[in-house]
Amino acid sequence: SPLLEVRGLTASVKETGQQILAGVDLTIREGEIHAIMGKNGSGKSTLTKVLVGHPHYEVTGGTILFKGEDLVDMEPEERSLAGLFMSFQAPIEIPGVSNFDFLLMAVNARREKSGLPALGPLEFYSVVSPKVDALKMDPKFLDRNVNEGFSGGERKRNEILQLSVIGADLALLDEIDSGLDVDALEDVAIAVNGLLTPQNSVLMITHYQRLLDLIKPSYVHIMENGKIIKTGDSSIATQINEGGFKSIALV
Ligand code: ADP
Ligand code: MG
Ligand code: MG
Repeated sequence: SPLLEVRGLTASVKETGQQILAGVDLTIREGEIHAIMGKNGSGKSTLTKVLVGHPHYEVTGGTILFKGEDLVDMEPEERSLAGLFMSFQAPIEIPGVSNFDFLLMAVNARREKSGLPALGPLEFYSVVSPKVDALKMDPKFLDRNVNEGFSGGERKRNEILQLSVIGADLALLDEIDSGLDVDALEDVAIAVNGLLTPQNSVLMITHYQRLLDLIKPSYVHIMENGKIIKTGDSSIATQINEGGFKSIALV
């Protein structure tokens, strides 16, 4: 079975009942890279949030299977332990918890689930330190509190650091290119590409072809009004880049 299989997914804002997702169909197999593009407000971020179980949204219909298991009734933490990773557009700050401790906790939670012994701080430092270097982050960053006072670019690098340390079978990357300069984008893309294996997959949301030039998608989807209305290869992204969404024939 596919890694992720979404069928007829509808979802609403819990507080108001306003429907945002209007029947999403999406299949992601192991080793595939998928990109979703679409105008502002088309429901891209909501889709990723619903996949990870964000509490502001309610699934009102359809199915989400991840590794053949129904995700809808799983808690966000269970989804994450099952191998789903999400980078939030606006990551939260966690006062009083250092990046190092946060990453170590996340890693040990996964090791415990797999029956592996917990890593001690020294052992973990030797794992995390080369990854910090690879992302050209200041090593002092590990002592700082999670996301506290980070610049936009630091947050994005930090999300990819989290992904590279924690690992994932399916990484959902929502606008990792926003707020990154060209050099930073390249560092982030190299790190993401370095994580790809024939087993794991990426779903990335972007407005920009420059990200898709660096992380090459197997499929590009266009989302509009809460649905995926077109799927193709990366030539769709080129077309949008040149002629805007209006240039895409929708049938
Ligand atoms: P995109 O990521 O494609 O720009 P979003 O998924 O963020 O779009 O939003 C889709 C639509 O749903 C927008 O009109 C947005 O205002 C609305 N929306 C999303 N989340 C909420 C929410 N929690 N409360 C109210 N409206 C929301
Ligand atoms: Mg938006
Ligand atoms: Mg969005």
